[in-house]
Amino acid sequence: MKRGGFTAAAFLLLAGCWGGDKATEYKSSEYVFGTLVDITVRGVSEKTARNAVTEVSEGFRRMHTDWHAWKPGGELMTVNAACKTGKPVTVSDFVLPLIIDAKDYYAKSDGLFNAAVGEIVGAWGFHADEPPKGRKPPFDTIRALAAAHPSMDDVVINGHTVTCTNPAVGLDFGGFAKGSAVDWALATLRTKGITNAVISAGGNVGAMGSHGDRPWRIGIRHPKKWGVIASVDLTPDENVYTSGNYERFREWEGVRYSHIIDPRTGMPVDHILSTTVIAEDGALADAAATGLTVAGTTDWPRIAKRMGVDRVLMVDDTGTLYASPAMAKRLIFPDGPKPNVVIRALD
Ligand code: AMP
Ligand code: MG
Repeated sequence: MKRGGFTAAAFLLLAGCWGGDKATEYKSSEYVFGTLVDITVRGVSEKTARNAVTEVSEGFRRMHTDWHAWKPGGELMTVNAACKTGKPVTVSDFVLPLIIDAKDYYAKSDGLFNAAVGEIVGAWGFHADEPPKGRKPPFDTIRALAAAHPSMDDVVINGHTVTCTNPAVGLDFGGFAKGSAVDWALATLRTKGITNAVISAGGNVGAMGSHGDRPWRIGIRHPKKWGVIASVDLTPDENVYTSGNYERFREWEGVRYSHIIDPRTGMPVDHILSTTVIAEDGALADAAATGLTVAGTTDWPRIAKRMGVDRVLMVDDTGTLYASPAMAKRLIFPDGPKPNVVIRALD
């Protein structure tokens, strides 16, 4: 299974199902972005559904190449090659919006969501299909790259021309590409007359329309053991994204290094096990889940407010749950003792 720069934030277990008439339901599954993407369409003819899903699948495959930081022949790889030299490069309408969004997320997260950390991610080896095993991470290279402060502010946009002013910049959309892809896919389905659909990309879920006679119930995977830590019932058009430090990692001398990087140090985040964000904008939810993981238990309420997300759940390495008020009231816990949840207002 190809993983590359797209990491599967696959911590959500689909626990609900469409209510009502199964005959109007069309399902499709495929591996893309290094994860299983399930599309469920409801309420249109099979032909309409199949044609729409085929178009979405073709779009996903193009994104997998052109939004991938390390895919030879892909547009983002070409942009990154130009970045190394500081030469201007022309960027298509397919990639430009992601660079614009990445700059916005960077600014709103105080630089904690930093899609310019691709060189650091690559130095850790997290761009490879399988992260390196049994080898010492190149700490000196990582430290040197972090000291060069690659930032989205170093990526200058002028029309369709992009210029990098810092050779340490490597664009990596892995932190929000799945959200962008699912947003695009749902919008595309809508243009085909489809108003009821759910897309699960490695367990991250985007939904639109009605869900038959009951809401979608999405289980948020427990970051420490098999099963769900809590579930939420989605309202139409909500997306749920989870970032976790345990999904993709490498180990050295008994220390586990995860794929979510603190841009200030180049080192992986180690105290946050997972962060879940619900939002109507899937790309934002995806970026925020990653950025808030970097922000950690102290700063997440402030960064969440700045990024414009209000439904947040975080689990730290002591097993403590932190939730915003808007998320806390949505959490449905499995039977048994209820975990203690620290509710933090956004500030
Ligand atoms: P996610 O699973 O959505 O949290 O995305 C994690 C991926 O985002 C990593 O595998 C990297 O490709 C990328 N990434 C790591 N650290 C950061 C960061 N601080 N800001 C933005 N993207 C990051
Ligand atoms: Mg993310």
